[in-house]
Amino acid sequence: MATTAGLRDAAAPLEKIPLETYVPPAKPSLIGLSRAELAARLGELGVPERQQKMRVQQLWHWIYFRGAQSFDEMSSVSKDTRTALAARFTVDRPEVVAEQISNDGTRKWLLRLPSGDDLQKAHEVECVYIPETDRGTLCVSSQVGCTLNCAFCHTGTQRLVRNLTAGEIVGQIMVARDRLNDWADRETPLGNRLVTNIVMMGMGEPLYNFDAVRDALLIVSDNEGIGISRRRITLSTSGVVPNIKRAGEEIGVMLAISLHAVRDELRNELVPLNRKYPIAELLQACRDYPGASNARRITFEYVMLKGVNDSLDDARLLVKLLKGIPAKINLIPFNPWPGSAYECSDWEQIEKFSEYVFNAGYSSPVRTPRGRDILAACGQLKSETEKLSARERQALRAMAMTD
Ligand code: SF4
Repeated sequence: MATTAGLRDAAAPLEKIPLETYVPPAKPSLIGLSRAELAARLGELGVPERQQKMRVQQLWHWIYFRGAQSFDEMSSVSKDTRTALAARFTVDRPEVVAEQISNDGTRKWLLRLPSGDDLQKAHEVECVYIPETDRGTLCVSSQVGCTLNCAFCHTGTQRLVRNLTAGEIVGQIMVARDRLNDWADRETPLGNRLVTNIVMMGMGEPLYNFDAVRDALLIVSDNEGIGISRRRITLSTSGVVPNIKRAGEEIGVMLAISLHAVRDELRNELVPLNRKYPIAELLQACRDYPGASNARRITFEYVMLKGVNDSLDDARLLVKLLKGIPAKINLIPFNPWPGSAYECSDWEQIEKFSEYVFNAGYSSPVRTPRGRDILAACGQLKSETEKLSARERQALRAMAMTD
C-alpha cells in the first residue's frame, strides 16, 4: 500500500531546467507502441516473422514491466537485436524538467515534449502524484493546454497547443515510476507499488484526444506490463457526449463527469461545452455507459463555488437529476489560482451540501485539497507553453462550441 511516509528513496527534487537548453530527441521512442506496432518495428529491422512474437514479449516485459531505460539493460534480448534497436530507437520518456514536492507529499512534474511541427521547439505538460494511506494516484494530462475554457480551471486559460501521443501519455506513468523508484525488480515485490491508480484529470479533455488516450490506457492496463487494472483508472470528461459510449466500449475504464452545475444556464457558463451537449443529453449518455453498475459507479465531480452552485436547492436538483444512475458525487473545494474569479464555498456550506446528498443515498466525499502550495490541486495545472488573453479565451470558447 502506498503511504506518504512509505515513499521509497525517490530521486531528489529538480530545479527547473531552462527552456533554452531543450534538445529535441534524435530518435523515436518505442514507448506507447502496441504489441502489433512493436512487431512491425522489429520486422523493419529484419527480425523474422516467426521470432517477432517472442521478441515482442521480451520487449514488452522490459519496457512496461521492468521500466528499462536503455536497450543495454534487456539482458534476455539477443545482443544483435539490442544493437539494431538502439541504432534506430530509444525507450526515452518525456524529459522531466522540474519537480516540486508539496508539504503534504504530493509531487508535481513538469515534462518537456517536442512540438508537433517545429521539432526545435518544446511544449510542456504537468502530471501530479498524490500519495494517500490506501493508494497512490497519478493525475495524467492528455493535451498541451485545452480548448474548453471551463471558467474555474487554470488549464483553461492556456491555448490548446496539441494533443499528446499515446507514448507521451504512457510516458507520464513511466516518469512517475522512475522518479518514485516504483518499478518491479528483485527488491520491489508486486503488490507493493506506489502508483496504484490513474486519473485522466490533468491538462486537457481526454475525449477530444480519443485514439491516443485509448491506446495509452490499453497499454497501462495490460497485466503483463504496467498492470494497473481498469477499475483503478478513471477517465474524466467535461461531457463530450458522442465519445462517452466509445470510452466504455473501447477502453472500459471508470468514468467521471465534470458536472459542476445542475442548471444549463449556469453550466453553460462554468463548462461552456454544455452549450453543445446540455445536461439532459450528458446524463442520458451516463445512463447508457457500458458497464456502469452499483459496483462500478460513475463519479460526478462538483467544484464548490461560493454563492454560485452551492445552495441546498442545487443539492436537491442534483439528487433529482442523478436518479437511476449508479453514481457517487465528489465535492471539490475550489482551488484558487492567480486571477480566478471565484471563491471556495464556506466549509459549513460544503458540509451541509454533502450531508444532503449523502442522506439521499449517494456517497459524497469532499476531496481534500492536495498540493495546493505547489499549484498541483484540481483545476490548478498549467504550464507556461501558451497563455491566452481574455479575448482569445472568448474566441476559443466560441470555437469549442462549433467543433
Ligand atoms: S476543467 Fe478540464 S476540460 Fe475544462 S478547461 Fe480545465 S482541463 Fe479543459
